[in-house]
Amino acid sequence: MRPIQMVDTKTQYQKIKSQVDQAVLQVMDSSGFINGKAVQDFAFNLASYLTCKHTIPCANGTDALQIAMMALDLQPGDEVITPSFTYIATTEVIALLRLTPVFAEVDPRTFCIDPSSLEKLITPRTKAIVPVHLYGHAAPMEEIMAIAKKHNLYVIEDNAQAIGSDYTFPDGRKKKTGTIGHIGATSFYPSKNLGAFGDGGALFTDDDALAAKMKMIANHGQSRQYYFDVVGCNSRLDTIQAAILDIKLKHLDEYIVARTTAADFYDKGFSNHPSITPPYRANYSRHAFHQYTILVEGGNNSATMRNELKDFLAGHKIPAMIYYPVPGHRQKMFAHFQLSTRDMPTTDWLTERVISLPMHTELDEEQLQFITGKVLEYFNR
Ligand SMILES: *Cc1c(COP(=O)(O)O)cnc(C)c1O
Repeated sequence: MRPIQMVDTKTQYQKIKSQVDQAVLQVMDSSGFINGKAVQDFAFNLASYLTCKHTIPCANGTDALQIAMMALDLQPGDEVITPSFTYIATTEVIALLRLTPVFAEVDPRTFCIDPSSLEKLITPRTKAIVPVHLYGHAAPMEEIMAIAKKHNLYVIEDNAQAIGSDYTFPDGRKKKTGTIGHIGATSFYPSKNLGAFGDGGALFTDDDALAAKMKMIANHGQSRQYYFDVVGCNSRLDTIQAAILDIKLKHLDEYIVARTTAADFYDKGFSNHPSITPPYRANYSRHAFHQYTILVEGGNNSATMRNELKDFLAGHKIPAMIYYPVPGHRQKMFAHFQLSTRDMPTTDWLTERVISLPMHTELDEEQLQFITGKVLEYFNR
């Protein structure tokens, strides 16, 4: 059996190596390392894939979130509602811009913002909601957009883990996650579903004015050469990364299928198990399975049991990860905020029970069988 990895970007690369190598060499020959043709080509192809009007490439997913918030003219002290149960980047940029993060609870099934927790968090200072499509499962965007509309709030989707996921509205209309809110932000970090060979990120929007502003902010606030209209930053996607991403974009749908096949295999193994809850799949979306995250329940203490499972798997050379062991509302970084929402029982409950199993495009049946078997063996000892 091939060694089991949490993410196997190497095998994935080997399958498209000749195309990728050629594209990289082409960039090197052209020496257009910054804003080369591949950057525009990739932005155009990504916009067509997502069916959104504008995509703005940038340096990474964290920058994308920051640029989105800068473009909305939020003022220091303005409140931004976001889940506590997410990667730190989502919440960190809020505080970096001197805005106030307000943490919302998540739905324990979807791991995404619970719309029923939103309205009581809204104050006159609330300006935006940042839902996160965590692990590749879409947040309930229809309800979130309805609340945002009612209270005149912006919605920035953190789509770093769900690129390619479809969202189906009750009338049958489909949209890609990241294109439903006012702005979508994504990351091309190598382990993401659409991963570069280094850092990368992008913003999506259908709004012409916002697109122009975000483009300007990502480029030092420059309106034309050497005229700087607003304070911006320097956030670019390298041409080499864009060339690689343009090739990988063509494979994104098949990558999601491969991830889903692995998820289906796991699901079968874990169905009806008293201690394991496999990931929920809401009927309104196609899960992109950035992670395959189960909930572990049992023993005297579920967290202890979960941690022991992780160690047991490690003993059999099966990596597993806890995403994320410390939720935002418990991070030191935010200790000075008068967070109205320090009491987050659902988020704490999930934090103690989640464990993510190996999930990538290159898992074969032998590996999946071995992982599933060892997880079950742990509970049947
Ligand atoms: C990866 C990730 C980010 C940040 O992306 P980077 O490219 O690493 O800056 C933001 N939010 C979520 C949910 C992520 O998973």
